[in-house]
Amino acid sequence: MRSALLRWYDREARDLPWRRTQDPYAIWISETMLQQTRVETVIPYYERFLSRFPTVETLADADADDLMEHWAGLGYYRRARNLQAAARCVVDEHGGALPDEIEGLLSLPGVGRYTAGAVASIAFDRPAPIVDGNVARVFARVFGIREELRSAPVQARLWEKAEALARGLRPGDLNQAVMELGATLCTPRAPECPRCPLARHCDAREAGDASALPVKAAKKPPKRVAAVAARLERNGKFLAVRRPPKGLLGGLWELPGGDLSPGETPEATASRSLHERVGLIAKVCEPLGSVEHVFTHRRLTLHVLRVKVGPERVRRQGYDAHRWLSEAALNALPLSKIARKAIALGR
Ligand code: SF4
Repeated sequence: MRSALLRWYDREARDLPWRRTQDPYAIWISETMLQQTRVETVIPYYERFLSRFPTVETLADADADDLMEHWAGLGYYRRARNLQAAARCVVDEHGGALPDEIEGLLSLPGVGRYTAGAVASIAFDRPAPIVDGNVARVFARVFGIREELRSAPVQARLWEKAEALARGLRPGDLNQAVMELGATLCTPRAPECPRCPLARHCDAREAGDASALPVKAAKKPPKRVAAVAARLERNGKFLAVRRPPKGLLGGLWELPGGDLSPGETPEATASRSLHERVGLIAKVCEPLGSVEHVFTHRRLTLHVLRVKVGPERVRRQGYDAHRWLSEAALNALPLSKIARKAIALGR
């Protein structure tokens, strides 16, 4: 397996900027950026970051805003803060040189088993294992692991396999070869087995169930919830409200309303929630229909009603802002998808 992987990797490896260097600092930056972020996205960030902070000392001394500006857009900002904390530790405690062993690397802030293994093997050619999503998928298929990968025993097995693999010559290239295979041929949906260097060794290819591996954890069905949205019109203008900045759909605009309480009708919810949340008294509620939306863990049915209200002033409770707007202006607001569906229902 090792020689098949290395021959293939020498021939097919993509030319990526961090593969043109042996600088442990640059490799560490690339491996940190590549966690949870795609290669194509990382390339320009990596180049800009390294030209601004070319050494561990420059990163240790970087101004916090400057650092964030060079990370902005990559997400998971804790990674950048940890990088700087680790850079300071390298400068203060390791004389400015990254540790060349797993244990030393693991002692740095924010450096976990994956990053430590990647830096130790790629930059220092240590026989250090790595398991990321790509490696786990390739191993599940090659070794026929037909169990959910997140369980502790399966994770332990994956790391054992990775350790065994990295014991060969060129451990950094072996690790990169497996990751490269997962990224290019052994992809989640359509593995290209006929072109794969591991085809002869692969359990899933032989069994014909490669696309079904790794086994996915059974998902819980989303919880069903219901709410109302009120289409309130006054003098040809509609009432729109903005959700607070934090939380689900934070900062987006929608029609006012609220969640149905057990046993409550949509009309009763509309009257109650309009009174509680915008201080208006509903006089007539006319159902317009309902729309559905699935969030990660919830399936929401939103009952939409046309509601006539009295002349009271709006008194907000739990919303961030409100406006009376023409239909066109309402549609021009940043609306959540479900709010857009609800508004369309009333036309
Ligand atoms: S033979 Fe197919 S399933 Fe097996 S490792 Fe290669 S691409 Fe993946």
